Amino acid sequence: MRQRRAAVMAIGDELVLGQRLDTNSQWISARLVERGVLVVEHVTIEDDADEIARALRRLSERVGVIVSTGGLGPTRDDLTRQALAHAMGEELVEDEQALGQIRAFFESRAMAMPEANRVQAYRPVSARVIPNEVGTAPGLAAQVGGARVWCLPGPPSEMRPMFDREVPGSISTDTEIATAQVQTIGWGESRVGEAIEDLMARGGEAVVGTTASRGIVAVRIRAIGEGCRDRVQELVREIRNRLGPIVFAVGDVSLQQACLDLLRQRRQRLCTVESCTGGMLGEMITQVPGSSAAYLGGWVTYANEMKMREVGVPEGVLADEGAVSSACARAMALGAVRRSGADWALSITGIAGPGGGSEAKPVGTVWIGRASHDGACQTRRFRFRGGREDIRAWSAISALAMLRLGLLGEEMDLLFEEERRDS
Ligand code: AMP
Ligand code: MG
Repeated sequence: MRQRRAAVMAIGDELVLGQRLDTNSQWISARLVERGVLVVEHVTIEDDADEIARALRRLSERVGVIVSTGGLGPTRDDLTRQALAHAMGEELVEDEQALGQIRAFFESRAMAMPEANRVQAYRPVSARVIPNEVGTAPGLAAQVGGARVWCLPGPPSEMRPMFDREVPGSISTDTEIATAQVQTIGWGESRVGEAIEDLMARGGEAVVGTTASRGIVAVRIRAIGEGCRDRVQELVREIRNRLGPIVFAVGDVSLQQACLDLLRQRRQRLCTVESCTGGMLGEMITQVPGSSAAYLGGWVTYANEMKMREVGVPEGVLADEGAVSSACARAMALGAVRRSGADWALSITGIAGPGGGSEAKPVGTVWIGRASHDGACQTRRFRFRGGREDIRAWSAISALAMLRLGLLGEEMDLLFEEERRDS
């Protein structure tokens, strides 16, 4: 069973110091799981040869496959090579072929190889050098105790092709792993967790877990071994049944993609009018290729004069109720739906902070409007927490959630919603 368990190591000071996000581990893990190898541990380590060697030895007792990235460069802080030799109890030797490839890399760019790059041709005696077709850092394949180890370069553009060329073909894939994710919007993570509590019990045939990110709660399912695909499909059905209308997708589909799909099915089109999000909603929607089939475009009406001039918010509304009000969100949405000819309009107006809040309208107060071409309009007030970026992102996502409910004809409270008005 150990052969089918893997650990992923990310090596580099920049990772532990928070200067760079470790995307390699995520990418590698997804690839391994696809191949039927279960990833049971991620380790992130500074550029320290002793620590790297210690981690390699410890992991080699737990798993059969270890993939590390980083620390293979030519500078003194690149210590993965030494650490691997140390963990294997071997010396480093110069690999002539590797040296030739590194020289050739520089020659192809009409440069002489800097002497510093010579260390990149070293390998532990029994290790194999993996050529790098994109950069100078070769990878290494070796055995540490009971584990097969691949040490790959840090830059994702070099690591990914090397991984695909080397690793999948060398690991057994006779254990099947099935995974799925059910994505939801509208309830908090704990409420979702309660609804599927019995399915999340550990130690069962399948592992069910949740992750939350700005209102979107994903339920992840994983099962191993014979019949795992059916088991996962059964769980997807059961979870869908229990969670009902909050489920917007099964699989890797964004909320904006799900909304665009619903619009397209209905041959309807959307426009947006944004204040505190400054175009973020439009940006999210246009991330989806082909969004022009259902998204007409929108306005960024940040200042009051733009709200009046561009979408016809009455001056009296702004004077009496202020820009962050149900009346303003309504006027924005109705003005936008009328002027654009769209079937739906979403409006967002709120206080993203950090300044500008008051007792009556604290930072995080956001009114979102949803109008349809027949003149119906609903506004909802939310109170989001967090910093400016959180509040803006929550606003855009909540607007999409409101659109989705409108498209489905559903009435449902959304997370952090405090008040609702219809007209
Ligand atoms: P290295 O092999 O340590 O010289 O890595 C070179 C560069 O690769 C680093 O400066 C990062 O920009 C990038 N890198 C290293 N490790 C990772 C990782 N785990 N995820 C994403 N990028 C990485
Ligand atoms: Mg490094």
